[in-house]
Amino acid sequence: MATKHKGHAIGIDLGTKYSCVAVWDDQNGVAKIIHNEQGNRTTPSCVAFTDSHRLVGDAAKNQAAFNPKNTIFDAKRLIGRKFSDSIIQDDLKLWPFKVVSGVNDKPLISVEYKGEEKLLAAEEISSMILTKMKEIAEAFLESPEKNAVITVPAYFNDSQRKATQDAGAIAGLNVMKIINEPTAAALAYGLQKRSNCSEERNVFVFDLGGGTFDVSLVTIKGDVYQVKATAGDTQLGGEDFDNRMIDYFVKDFNKKNNVDISENPRSLRRLRTACERAKMNLSFAKQTTIEVDSLFQGTDFYSLITRSRFEELNKDLFLKCMDTVEKCLVDAKVDKNNVHDVVLVGGSSRIPKLQDLLQEFFLGKDLCRSINPDEAVAYGAAVQAALLSESMNTALDLVLLDVTPLSLGISTKGDVMCVFIPRNSVLPTKHEKLLGTFEDNQSTAKIAVYEGERSRASDNNLLGLFCLTDLDPSPRRHPIKVCFDLDENGILKVYAEESKTGKKKEVTIVNDKKRLTAQEIKRMIQEAEMYKEDDEKFKENVEAKIALEEYVYMMSGFMEDGKVSSKIKSSEKKNIEVAIEEARELLDGNQKKVETAEFEKCLQKLRSIFDPIIM
Ligand code: ADP
Ligand code: MG
Repeated sequence: MATKHKGHAIGIDLGTKYSCVAVWDDQNGVAKIIHNEQGNRTTPSCVAFTDSHRLVGDAAKNQAAFNPKNTIFDAKRLIGRKFSDSIIQDDLKLWPFKVVSGVNDKPLISVEYKGEEKLLAAEEISSMILTKMKEIAEAFLESPEKNAVITVPAYFNDSQRKATQDAGAIAGLNVMKIINEPTAAALAYGLQKRSNCSEERNVFVFDLGGGTFDVSLVTIKGDVYQVKATAGDTQLGGEDFDNRMIDYFVKDFNKKNNVDISENPRSLRRLRTACERAKMNLSFAKQTTIEVDSLFQGTDFYSLITRSRFEELNKDLFLKCMDTVEKCLVDAKVDKNNVHDVVLVGGSSRIPKLQDLLQEFFLGKDLCRSINPDEAVAYGAAVQAALLSESMNTALDLVLLDVTPLSLGISTKGDVMCVFIPRNSVLPTKHEKLLGTFEDNQSTAKIAVYEGERSRASDNNLLGLFCLTDLDPSPRRHPIKVCFDLDENGILKVYAEESKTGKKKEVTIVNDKKRLTAQEIKRMIQEAEMYKEDDEKFKENVEAKIALEEYVYMMSGFMEDGKVSSKIKSSEKKNIEVAIEEARELLDGNQKKVETAEFEKCLQKLRSIFDPIIM
């Protein structure tokens, strides 16, 4: 067994919309969800930039309507993808913030921070959210935390996983493992609801969040959790349902008022918030109103939407979810009659129509609603983190067998994808094939490694490319042995060997084109430090201002109190009044930014006058 990481370890569910952090509580044998400074158990995955500071989490989300261009959400939709990706191009139309194309088609988010334009990679935004989650855990555990398990949608491809790992590194975390969200949820469900189950149980996890949809079939038997198959859609989630409603109301508003609000980020942002709220209400009520005062050019927006209308707007998306459910069961080779539990995870799994469709699909089976859909993933991540570290002493001997979400193979003659490791193979796994050269006296064999399900290799995602050179001159079909070795973290090594001579080449597929380089990560870590310093400076500035304010308040109180002021000489009184006036100007003046040192100097001056008097 691998050596365990020292100290605590935390589990982080880095969601598209909300993130959640948990830690294993060994004394009670449960995972604890950690609340943030506002007392919330989940934290918006949102980062905002202003002319003076940066905000993360609730604070960022709360100011979104006033600062739409610099309030970034949905970094998870961007991570590990190309700018030209059609998903990104579609999302762009609805995002109030700007995304541009960087080197190698990498999307970069453009924000204005302290009056200057900054370009940030999705990894950096995600790292800021991870840092926030780390700090939430540190405040609760009263100790520095480094070791973490981070979850990703099962359907995340290689580059999205690696980019998430990079985000962890920028946040200063030691990412012990990346695990799949539905697997984590199954772990949470199994431990909380099905411990001591000796019979094998087939558990179907339906996880529909803000921007991703993931399903998995997991069998639990005793302490062994085996993922049989996963399927999903990284472009389907609650946000798409919001978008449908936004589209609908934008058209409605434009038509009624003969305007076009689709180019106005602030209006869109406010409408988005209202639509999301309406959608949530519709999970409990049959109809709801939606109101936004002065939505555009002073015109108020008021409308009504029924649950059926909402269902109508999203009908095709809901049905698409059911196709994915079916696909997963086919891959797992499990009949729907043999599914014992259907577990609902993710905020969007609360939508009644989806629950109905799911129940209908599983022939009327009761769905399991007993675990918290917002917290299950972080719970499972914390369990996995504890298993990998020293934070678990209880005799919990879980075995977690996960699968690879996409097929892996190479391109052979005619651009045909030759699959080595089919999707849903249990990790770790190794597959070998003997291939032949295409031509007589071929001197070089090119190995292009792809992931994906398309039969034409170039339609899939190219992970890496390498060549075996100086081959022995031979007629075509000269044998080359190629081996794929996928470890338990899903990191792939590919070997190619000329059978005749034993000449060999091995590469670890790092997918470095899309991935950040070591230098870039180093730079981003430094920048993260800079942001941290800025945040601290901002905090100090606010604290210095408050200290001055309190002192002025106290002084004024004394001056107004006849008993005290009667004892002060009139010449001193004048001095004090002038000093208070100066301080007030500094505090209330609508002038430019006041430096911390200025507040401190002013406070010192006041103290030097007033402290001796009170003494
Ligand atoms: P993620 O894991 O992607 O961050 P979550 O699991 O936190 O997402 O789910 C967030 C999504 O769930 C959001 O799109 C939100 O609008 C949606 N959601 C939350 N509560 C409800 C509800 N009662 N009805 C419908 N959708 C909901
Ligand atoms: Mg989630």
